[in-house]
Formats: sequence, C-alpha cells, structure tokens
Amino acid sequence: MKVIVIGTGFVGLTHAAVCSEYGHEVYAYDIDRERIAAYQTGQRQEIERYVNEPELAAIVQERLARSLFFCNELAPIIEGVEVIFLCVPTPAGLDGATDLSSYLAAVSVLAPLLAQRRDAGRVVIVNKSTVPVGTARSLAQILQEYQVPNVGVASNPEFLPEGDAVEKSRRPDRVLIGADDQQDFQLLRLLYSQFVHHVRIRYIETTPETAEASKYVANSLLFTAISFWNGVAARLAETDEKIRLDELRMAVTADSRISPWGSYVSNGAGGSCFGKDIQSLIRQLRTGGQQTPLLDSVYAINEEQKTYLLERAEQQGISFQGKTVALVGLAFKQRTNDIRDASSLALIEALLQRGVSAIRTYDPMALNNARRMFTPEKNPLYSKISYHESAQEALQGSHAVCISTDWQEFRGLSRTIRQTVSPPYVILDGRRMLPDAAELVRAGYDYVAVGSVYLQ
Ligand code: NAD
Repeated sequence: MKVIVIGTGFVGLTHAAVCSEYGHEVYAYDIDRERIAAYQTGQRQEIERYVNEPELAAIVQERLARSLFFCNELAPIIEGVEVIFLCVPTPAGLDGATDLSSYLAAVSVLAPLLAQRRDAGRVVIVNKSTVPVGTARSLAQILQEYQVPNVGVASNPEFLPEGDAVEKSRRPDRVLIGADDQQDFQLLRLLYSQFVHHVRIRYIETTPETAEASKYVANSLLFTAISFWNGVAARLAETDEKIRLDELRMAVTADSRISPWGSYVSNGAGGSCFGKDIQSLIRQLRTGGQQTPLLDSVYAINEEQKTYLLERAEQQGISFQGKTVALVGLAFKQRTNDIRDASSLALIEALLQRGVSAIRTYDPMALNNARRMFTPEKNPLYSKISYHESAQEALQGSHAVCISTDWQEFRGLSRTIRQTVSPPYVILDGRRMLPDAAELVRAGYDYVAVGSVYLQ
C-alpha cells in the first residue's frame, strides 16, 4: 500500500520504518528540512542525532530508497496514497490542555492537496498522535469543509515505549483502530494484515472516541502506578530501615492481580507523554464537568518526587550552596537520548536555585540534547553546567553525585565513586542503582536513596 507518514520523530520515524519492513511503500514527510536531510544520508550517526532507538537506524539504512522515502514536500507524493498517518507533536499548552497547533498546521497543508487530487481512490487519514477525544470527528468536519472526496478518518493511537520502539512496533500488545466507516476499517486491516489474526496481539476495532480515550486512560493508569509506588511504598520504606523495599515489591507483586510495572521506584517519571497526557485528561474531564482529585494527586506527587532527594538531604543538614554536584543520567530513562520532561531537568533547575557552583553531567546518549537545551543565552546560570564523556570524569572534584537515570552501567558506580571522590561526600540515588551502598556507607559516604532511610 502507499502510505504517507507526517512527522518523523520517535513515533513517525519508527512507524514509517516498520511499515516499510512489512512491504508498504512509505513516504515520510516532515517540515524540519535538516532532519529530513539527515535521514536521507542513511548514515547511522545522522539518523540517531534525531531519534536514537535500538535497530532503528539499521532499518532506515536498509529500506532507504527501496520502499522508504523522505521528503519535505507533500504535493509530489499525494497521488495514489491510501493511508496517511499524522504523527506530529501534541504537547501540553500553557493551561495544560493539548496544544493542537502542529496538528492543525499539518491538516491545513494536507486537506487542500487531497481536495485537488486526480485519483479518486479511498484515502484514510489516521491520527497516531495522541489527541483529545473528539479530534477525529473534528478532522472529518475540516475535510468536509475542504470538500475532500472519498476520505475517511480513523484513530490509531500509538502505545510504543521509547527505548523499545522498534520491538514494540513489530510486536505491539494491541493495535487499536477507531473509525466509523467499514471502508476505513478494511484499509487498515490490509495495512496491518500481519496483526489482524495474530494470536498474541489484540486487534481491536471501535469508535474513534473510544480509541482516543483509551490512550489517555492507559497512560494515566500507568502514571498512577508510578506515583503510587513512589508516593506510598517508597515513602513508607523511608520511615523504617527494617522495611526492605525490594522484598516488599516482590511480596506485593506476587499477587497475579497486581502488575509489577511501575514498582521500581524512582525520582519521578519523565518523558514526553505521561505529564502532558495526564494534564490533557484532567482538562478533558473538567471540561465535561467532572472532578479530578486522583489525577491531580498523581501529577503533583510525581512533580514533587523529581527533586525530593535534595530536600531529604537538606533535612539532614546538608547544603548544596557553593558545592559542585555531579549529575549522572540525563535521559528520562535508560536506552534513549530523550530528555523531555526528565527528572534531571527539574534537578538542574533546583540545584541552580540552591546556588551550586557547578553541575558536572554525564549521560551515555543524551549529552547533545542537554547541550542544546541548556544554552547560556537562555539563562546565564546554565554556564555552570558542564558535559563529560564518562561518569568518572563527571565525578571529579564534586561534593555530591545524583543518579537520575536507570542506565545499567550505573550499577557499577560504587567502585568509580570510591576511586574518584572521598568522604565527606553525598550520594543521591534516584534509581536505587547501587547494590553495595552499605559498603559505601561503612567507608564514610552519605547515602540517600528513594525508598530507603538516610544512611551515614
Ligand atoms: P517528536 O517531537 O519526536 O516528533 C514530531 C515530528 O513532527 C518532528 O520531526 C517535527 O518536525 C514534526 N512536525 C511538527 N509539525 C509538523 C507539521 N506541521 N508537519 C509535518 N511535520 C511536523 O514527537 P513524538 O514523540 O514522535 O510524538 C508524536 C505524537 O505521538 C505525539 O502526539 C505524542 O504524544 C505521541 N506519542 C509519543 C510517544 C513517544 O514515546 N514519544 C508514544 C506514543 C505516542
């Protein structure tokens, strides 16, 4: 089938690459010319500068110019298209409601082109972006205003987790299609033929509104699990050293009704989706006249959790004023270079507010994204941030370290700490990454971890 993917970020590039693997002719379009030029080179480094996901660059390299094409213009590729995916950003606006400006901009370019097309075959426009309930129906109205012939709309929300994007696109837990017209269901069954009768993948067809709502409910439930473990179980274990959080987690999640997902406590969840999706759901519920106490708490607990380790250390009399702090881990989770809404961002702001003299950062993938975000032109205080090629280098000359991402290499950080810095020294472990923390404490280091009492 001929497919156009509009927006080639995490979701769009992954979807375009995997659709092309399944034999479709895929045209991936983006307004960002530099990004498209980078993808067109087929060079791994260039591709990963924008989206760094396991296997993704290799698929792009392999499919490029065979059945995967990148472009900055929609007009030349519009004839004969059967399915168009919208994968553009839908961030939170200032008031928390979804900002649909990129989405509407893409539609306003697409609709007139579709209205003028010579080919009269059915085309379905599919919302893969996460959009509020009712957006597919509004899209149908816009297309009607432009008098686009033989067009359908569908909602097909994306559930892929970053760091595992390719794997989860090839083997999703479910494929969810919301549409009104049987022709559109049929086109998407053809597109996703590998999943329709799969024994382990649920292929669900429903209304556009149900599909749109499902994405928000699923993300908010996952977010609730994270805030529950961080805000209840971890806090309880911080009150009594005889409560061992890891064993508590095993005991609780042994119940087949309770998922272990979210039970690995942390200094908060980040990423481009959870925060903005829960805020959008809160707005949608309130607009519908509902109260949102549970979701309000889930969001607030997570925001507080991002810098809570600093406050716990301060309650023990530790000050960060004038200190040099190493921040290891900038990405919002391991295996990605994405720092959007990461806890590390909140930590950097909180440390700068506390008057630290320097922040020495290290991350195996995300340094460049952080460099782009924290430019001294935006805030002169950002000149206090330096970027280092290893955890050991970041630790040099520091008075404290904060571990903010669950990169597996940090499990061996105790040794690096002992070799590089001497007590008095404060270790803030936002991911419970140090299995031998007790030895560090015996050697005189202060250790404060999410879900454990303060140790010194
Ligand atoms: P992204 O920021 O990584 O990429 C978006 C891309 O769209 C960029 O390349 C940008 O240049 C392009 N773009 C913006 N406006 C455009 C326009 N008018 N026309 C063409 N291209 C345009 O975003 P993402 O993380 O891929 O997210 C896309 C959507 O998918 C969002 O709605 C998001 O909520 C949803 N989603 C994201 C994830 C995730 O893990 N990142 C998971 C599930 C769903």
